[in-house]
Amino acid sequence: MKLEDYKLFTIGPTQMYKSTLEVRSKVVPYFRTPEFSELMLENEALVKKLQFAEEDAKVVFLTCSGSGAMEATVINCFDKNDKLLVISGGTFGERFEKICQIHHIPFEALKLGADEELRAECFKPFEGKEFTGLLVNIDETYTGQLYDINIISDFCKRNDMYLVVDAISSFLADEYNMAKYGIDATIVSSQKGLCLAPGLSIVTLSARMAAKAEATDPESLYFDFKDCFLNMKRGQTPFTPAVGVCFELNDMLHKIDSEGIETRLGDVKARCDYFRNSLKGLPVHLPPYPLSNAITPVRFEKDIAMEFFAYLKDEKHIMVNPVGGELGKRSIRVSHVGDLSFADYDELIAEIKQFFGM
Ligand SMILES: *Cc1c(COP(=O)(O)O)cnc(C)c1O
Repeated sequence: MKLEDYKLFTIGPTQMYKSTLEVRSKVVPYFRTPEFSELMLENEALVKKLQFAEEDAKVVFLTCSGSGAMEATVINCFDKNDKLLVISGGTFGERFEKICQIHHIPFEALKLGADEELRAECFKPFEGKEFTGLLVNIDETYTGQLYDINIISDFCKRNDMYLVVDAISSFLADEYNMAKYGIDATIVSSQKGLCLAPGLSIVTLSARMAAKAEATDPESLYFDFKDCFLNMKRGQTPFTPAVGVCFELNDMLHKIDSEGIETRLGDVKARCDYFRNSLKGLPVHLPPYPLSNAITPVRFEKDIAMEFFAYLKDEKHIMVNPVGGELGKRSIRVSHVGDLSFADYDELIAEIKQFFGM
């Protein structure tokens, strides 16, 4: 069996929708044209609509994976005169810390312990300490914890801070609303909730965040938001974008917009609930903190996660997400975004039962 025929229960790339595969099969056209500009302006408007961004928000399209967009956002929105608070509860939070370190942007980390839930009390030591911005991966995909946006948003408003949210795995799986929570920057990437090919990342900036970025000089040629803003006025990007993925994006945004964002979120949640309910009675458990609907971290009683991952991949041609590091010995993650049905989950549950001889 070929790698591209495996069933994907992974969060990115995901099991792609048929309409996306259809779009992918076409010639990638030349892009410095009014027709492509129009497509990109439509993409911009639909992204803003689905993220509930304010009308005056700006959208930046970047040709890179999500981590590139995380780095680009940090260096365009902040500099050595800022002081950031990074919510650090897993490998993606640590990535934000590393980005600040490399670019000499002052920061402190709010570190969570193993299985610790982010609660309002966690912010007490950081009140009134003159932080200018906060960086958070709203679904810390490493652990699957969905942080409470209410707590984070309140803290930022109280302390007059910019709020930057990496919603890469959460957008289109959990509710998301930039205007309601005063979110100043949203980072998403094509291969996660949008279920497209990798290569395109999107950053949405509030008017005040865009104004700050206008006044910031990042030490980067490729990632300069000022250049992006200027080009995007006419629906273009400074450099060649992932043109094919921009077409996939247009198709997907229209699909989600026409069925309604609530329908999309409802579908993901239904698959998520179905799978989690089906796990009852099996020798596995879920972590104790609040979870995103994007993935379920399945924890085993023994160190068999790697063995189970290999069994599914090699014997059954099913791909789930392994977990790196210490957690990975006893945990795999199962995605609920992608073109998956209840029957697909039935198959996965049957494999889990067989693996445990049930
Ligand atoms: C997937 C993901 C990223 C980006 O990873 P890339 O491999 O660079 O696309 C960043 N943050 C979170 C929370 C993610 O889930």
